[in-house]
Amino acid sequence: MSDAPVPYARPFIGREEEEAVLEVLRSGWLTTGAQALAFEKEFANFIKGPASTGLQCLAVNSATSGLHLAAEACGIKPGDLVFLPSLTFTATAEVIRYLDADPVFVDVKPGAFHIDPAALEHAIENTKNKGAAKAIMPVHYNGLPCDMDSVMRIAGKHGMKVIEDAAHSFPSVMEDGRHAGTIGDVGVFSFYANKTITTGEGGMIAVKDEALAKRMSVMRSHGIDRSVWTRYTDLKASWYYEVLEAGFKYNLPDILAALGRAQLARALDLLEMRVAIAAVYDDLFSNSEHFALPPTGAGDARHLYPLRLNLSALKISRDDFIDKLKEKGIASSVHYIPLHVMPFYKNRYNLNEDDFPQTMAAYKSEISLPIWPGMTEGQVSRVVEGVKSIAAEYAK
Ligand SMILES: *Cc1c(COP(=O)(O)O)cnc(C)c1O
Repeated sequence: MSDAPVPYARPFIGREEEEAVLEVLRSGWLTTGAQALAFEKEFANFIKGPASTGLQCLAVNSATSGLHLAAEACGIKPGDLVFLPSLTFTATAEVIRYLDADPVFVDVKPGAFHIDPAALEHAIENTKNKGAAKAIMPVHYNGLPCDMDSVMRIAGKHGMKVIEDAAHSFPSVMEDGRHAGTIGDVGVFSFYANKTITTGEGGMIAVKDEALAKRMSVMRSHGIDRSVWTRYTDLKASWYYEVLEAGFKYNLPDILAALGRAQLARALDLLEMRVAIAAVYDDLFSNSEHFALPPTGAGDARHLYPLRLNLSALKISRDDFIDKLKEKGIASSVHYIPLHVMPFYKNRYNLNEDDFPQTMAAYKSEISLPIWPGMTEGQVSRVVEGVKSIAAEYAK
């Protein structure tokens, strides 16, 4: 078995991706155009399910841009409140700050990594006099769809919008055939370098409502009412455009869209490879007093493998565990350092660790193990043996 270091993540890029990008480079059209349009159509077809009538997709240069466009289109105004889990990446919350609105952090369910509907109801109740409760941003952590029925019920009760952070959830088809990211008002997927399919940097918005789609489409390209591509291919006046708003520059260039199309074509194969690795981990880490397996279920995209250490059965902290793994040449990560402990959010909103007991428990015990398509059996075995030997050495 090779003892070269096992990286935490590695994109799966083949000849198809190389050729798709080369073709664009040789075509003379590098920015948003035919490739981006085709990518949007193909992606929409992929995630279309029983509840997706009228679903359309908008390609963007990152999921962060997409979340910003979604929040703007949903009418989030200065001082409004938007509810999201503390256990997420800062992108989910920062876009709320872009609009001078305020994120309200919510704890996760016990033993899980998803927003807790009961805690969400409490948070809405407790902030009644602090601002208008405008939206919920659930995060499909790991690509396992969260309890969207509860989220939608709570949103409906309070007249709130729902913006799904579906950065991890492609592909993520639930038992009833719906795809995570197509249930709320807007869903946003990420194609960042280590996500389930990648364009290096990029994202995709899924939306059903025509007015929301139109607003995001205009704001995506400088608040201009026609995309550059349409302007140059339309036979009418090619030079004329109108600026309707001070918009943003969030379009996805064709070089990246072509890469995305090639990745989309192999998305199910990549999923199968991650599922196979997760099955080995699940099997070999189960029935151990030292670990808790990641919760799983229908539609789990297995973007991460968030193993939880049972710290009460071990004489080692999670941080030291990660160092020991590194000494064995195994890279790992943590998802996430909660936002309520981050200096900016903690200080600005005067947040207290004790108000997020489940999030803190998840944070302190979680290790994300390598789970990338193309990992060899030998690499998977090394991870398992490394984790198990450290646990054995530090068993109580
Ligand atoms: C990666 C990620 C984002 C941001 O995605 P970008 O495409 O890098 O902007 C947002 N939310 C979550 C949960 C993520 O993991």
